[in-house]
Amino acid sequence: MEKVIKLSQIKNAAQEAYNEAKGITGGKNANYIPYLANIDSNLFGLSVTLLDGTCINFGDTEYKFGIESVSKVPTAILAMIQHTPEGVLEKIGADATGLPFNSIFALLLENDHPSTPLVNAGAISACSMVAPQGDSEDKWNAIVKNITELCGSAPQLIDELYMSETATNFNNHAIAWLLKNYNRIYDDVDMSLDLYTRQCSLGITSSQLAIMGATIANKGLNPVTKLQVFDEAIAPKITSMIASVGFYQHTGDWLYTSGIPAKTGVGGGVMGVMPGLFGIAAFAPPLDDAGNSVKAQAAIKAFMNKLELGIFKGDTVKIIND
Ligand code: GLU
Repeated sequence: MEKVIKLSQIKNAAQEAYNEAKGITGGKNANYIPYLANIDSNLFGLSVTLLDGTCINFGDTEYKFGIESVSKVPTAILAMIQHTPEGVLEKIGADATGLPFNSIFALLLENDHPSTPLVNAGAISACSMVAPQGDSEDKWNAIVKNITELCGSAPQLIDELYMSETATNFNNHAIAWLLKNYNRIYDDVDMSLDLYTRQCSLGITSSQLAIMGATIANKGLNPVTKLQVFDEAIAPKITSMIASVGFYQHTGDWLYTSGIPAKTGVGGGVMGVMPGLFGIAAFAPPLDDAGNSVKAQAAIKAFMNKLELGIFKGDTVKIIND
């Protein structure tokens, strides 16, 4: 079916979704990273970026929060740019784990394979793949440049978060060394883990994440800056990874109820990709038991349901100005 949606309908749906989700209580800030435990739990923002570059924002959409695991998406893209999607499939994989983001068990079960760049193990492995090999600063600059191009503006390291994570990331040390044991780390182990920890500590806004989502939805062409950030062949690859594991062990429930591939982070951010239509992002610190923002999930789901959209609906959707 061909479905026509007016720009005003999209703006109204975003406003209503924001208003409804704002009243939702429940969830708790991540407490295993001290910095995140102390962020104001009432912060909340919702952003949508359409593929003509229109940006719609409600609430705290310029607040810089910890990008955390949403950073796994841009670095997976960078690994694909530098090593091709096939190279990433061969070195890391593209399988859902069905287990929590930091699962060591997943790595053992997979029998030496990190599964996907969108869980901790695969993300540390992806950081190790980033070129140029052996040079921490150049690798870091490549990671930040890529995020900057995807968002159209630079993220900013939150030093306090970086120190907080570095002082407490013992589980990730275990994962990194297990990866080394399985020959799934392609550079220095400590450097790769440090790059992963640093990228998780980047401050980002929901408006920046919505633009990143829109760049992916637009086959690598940033709709705001008009820069072609990555080859269009990468878009369906990264979107399939987001769809299969973006919410960790709750990914199936998420896709079933929301209809949109999305990636979460324990900083409270969620970034959704609606191929050919828009990117969407929401941010609110309180999380559910799997580490996914309660309000951000509610807002994105409400937006999708109000517009009766979903990647599996089979509709051809056209957005028109009114
Ligand atoms: N830096 C966090 C960690 O490695 C990210 C987790 C997440 O956002 O899911 O534990």
